[in-house]
Amino acid sequence: MALLSLIVPCYNEEAAVELFYARTAAVCAGLDGVDVEYIFVDDGSTDRTLELLRGLAAGHPGVRWLSFSRNFGKEAAMLAGLEHARGDWAAVMDADLQDPPELLPELLALVRSGQWDCAAVRRVDRRGEPPIRSWFARQFYKIINRMSKTEIVDGARDYRLMSRQVVDAILRLPEYNRFSKGIFSWVGFRTKWVETVNAERSAGESKWSFFKLLVYALDGIIAFSTAPLAIASVLGLALCAVSFFAIIFVIVRQLVWGGSAFGWPSLVCIILFIAGIQLFCMGILGQYLAKTYLEVKRRPIYILREQGGDQDEKEP
Ligand code: UDP
Ligand code: MG
Repeated sequence: MALLSLIVPCYNEEAAVELFYARTAAVCAGLDGVDVEYIFVDDGSTDRTLELLRGLAAGHPGVRWLSFSRNFGKEAAMLAGLEHARGDWAAVMDADLQDPPELLPELLALVRSGQWDCAAVRRVDRRGEPPIRSWFARQFYKIINRMSKTEIVDGARDYRLMSRQVVDAILRLPEYNRFSKGIFSWVGFRTKWVETVNAERSAGESKWSFFKLLVYALDGIIAFSTAPLAIASVLGLALCAVSFFAIIFVIVRQLVWGGSAFGWPSLVCIILFIAGIQLFCMGILGQYLAKTYLEVKRRPIYILREQGGDQDEKEP
């Protein structure tokens, strides 16, 4: 039988995991000729999530869980899930049912047809989201797509079903700074986009504050574009050109009219302005340096504390 792996990152999802399993299992019962394995990744939850996952695994065949030593973030959880998936296909889903399991048969049919390597879900509206957040999100997609050659699709969720080939390709990207919206797109392959309306969280709360999202967005830009570095150089060149003409102007004025030694306040403003731009550009440079620093340390992306499930057979 062919096997489909469902990877579910869970961070403090005690209110959601059982709802998730119930609804997803009901849908998966209708998939013929396909076995389903669930890989729940407990991302260092501090609530009863792990306990509930153990319970699920004990009561249902095909459920496995991985548990991190601390919170490593959703990107790390997705990677761990993909590394442990044994399926011929793998799908990544949120635990909060914002990725409707009812779409699974459609996604699977698309990839199974052989016409597509990957079927991904994109939401076409941002209902139920604060308007300011939507606005910033839209600006982010505009900016990153202008700056990066890798296409980052607006509204793309991490919910997608991939063939084994795509999973293996993703696992070949060993980077520490993982921005999966970029990684999924960077590896290429034929991706079919399935559109859906925004679903609200089934239970519990979103783990993403506005500030966390902003940092994530900036990380994404740095991970998939070097345009900010080019902008810094262009800015430097432009300022050189301006100052060149200013020097000529000052010399000519001195020769023709004399008395050019005014302008102390304007000088201070100019110095401050230039110093500001220099610091800004150094900051950009520093961001790339910091990311490089983290990459060369070669730290593991996540650390497992425990794993189990699938009737607690031993991992190979
Ligand atoms: N998540 C995770 N680690 C984290 C934050 C979130 O594994 O540090 C999981 C979370 O449990 C959920 C998914 O990532 O399954 C999406 O998180 P959330 O629903 O909070 O984000 P939103 O849908 O609001 O963007
Ligand atoms: Mg959610």
